[in-house]
Amino acid sequence: MALNMASNPGGFRGGDKVPVVIFSPLQRPLRPISRTSNIQSTAIVTQGDLTYCRATCHCRRCDLRVVFPTASLPIHNYLCNCTSCRHGTGEMAFHTARILGNPMDAETDGPFAVEVMDSYSPRDRLGVERFFCPTCSANMLVRIDLSLREEADKRGGEPEDCAFGRNRSEKPSEQELEEGFQWRVAGGALRNYEGIIQPMYHLNLASTMDGGVADHLRTFDGNQLIRYSEGVGSKVLPFEWHSPTLTDDQPEEISAFCHCRAVSVKVSRPDDRAKSLRSPFPDLIYPTDVTYRAKLRNPGDEKWWLRGPYKEGEPVRYLAGHCSCAFCRMTGGFDFQSGTFIPRFNIREADQESGRTIVFSQQESRPKGLKQYVSSPGRYHEFCGTCGATAFWWHVSRPNLVDLSMGLLDASVDGVRAEHWFEWHKSRVSNMQVSGSRKMVASLVEGLRQA
Ligand SMILES: [Zn+2]
Ligand SMILES: [Zn+2]
Ligand SMILES: [Zn+2]
Ligand SMILES: [Zn+2]
Repeated sequence: MALNMASNPGGFRGGDKVPVVIFSPLQRPLRPISRTSNIQSTAIVTQGDLTYCRATCHCRRCDLRVVFPTASLPIHNYLCNCTSCRHGTGEMAFHTARILGNPMDAETDGPFAVEVMDSYSPRDRLGVERFFCPTCSANMLVRIDLSLREEADKRGGEPEDCAFGRNRSEKPSEQELEEGFQWRVAGGALRNYEGIIQPMYHLNLASTMDGGVADHLRTFDGNQLIRYSEGVGSKVLPFEWHSPTLTDDQPEEISAFCHCRAVSVKVSRPDDRAKSLRSPFPDLIYPTDVTYRAKLRNPGDEKWWLRGPYKEGEPVRYLAGHCSCAFCRMTGGFDFQSGTFIPRFNIREADQESGRTIVFSQQESRPKGLKQYVSSPGRYHEFCGTCGATAFWWHVSRPNLVDLSMGLLDASVDGVRAEHWFEWHKSRVSNMQVSGSRKMVASLVEGLRQA
């Protein structure tokens, strides 16, 4: 959730001591994608009946191709907003598309060696295995064991359609039945899916309690996204719908946790420590590529991460927003990452007393369950090593002010957008000028204007 992607923010000024990072996992050498590479030219290749699409994670450990029947394109798809998808990825929604056969190696016609990925089998989805990059956390593939379909039906409790689950409207093919598996690929993991996947609706919005990201992402490519409360054909929920169980009465802390709960924290309201920090402006507020560096450094020491309303003169909310940079897309597997800026003093591990302060750069003070990916010098992405959910992002220019993935929030407290806690930045999507998902981000920008 790199909401501040300045190439060299250089805005660090006293106050926050730059830490010496002593925790660094073994990683393959980074091979970042250059903007001038031929990504687009190899992203989609059509050969007669078959169309091949390339999917790559940020660190490039996972580089593969998937196949779609050309005649089936574009696939009319949906964004799943269910609890399992949100907490399993840290994203506010997720989309995956069914592929033909198995994933293939990026360069050869052989199968992709799925063993290079980590996998996670959510307890609430029988026979479903999600695959993510163990180095950079990109959620990329889903494998569904077809032999467990009937048992899952009997057990019940699963949504009819889910990005990380079975899809009752999609009958298994003969080949899939023979092999016993069905595969899906994450849309955001594809280098390009224009003409391949066409999101048409939001699903499982009832679980968001407040419509979640569907109130921000209202259309795709000019078409209104239908807002189903559950599966296709279920009740349609209007904009600004809220579950009647939500109230203005809020607890002192709000919980955030990944699907497997290895990462579980609580966030408290801003306090004096939250105001004592200094930080340069993020790209979310001022585009870092066209703004004077002197301005980005925030010389007026504006506490831009703190937002009203005010209680006894003190701000009670934090700033939240969406980022669409290549880093967010390629580490998350979704088109954009939604995050909020929170001082680390206001985050505590759920099972710890409030006295223990989190320090991401010190092994003994890091939240449990996290794995760290250094996307480039000074930029740290923290994710759950068990279920692959994105959790935090921070930068040496602001080590005490971290981004938290909004998909981890406990929606039962204040809905997925949690507007009693966070003010959403609506005039801009971070890094929208360099987004790899142009149509999605243009739609998001438009939706935010209307929200
Ligand atoms: Zn980003
Ligand atoms: Zn990776
Ligand atoms: Zn889902
Ligand atoms: Zn987890």
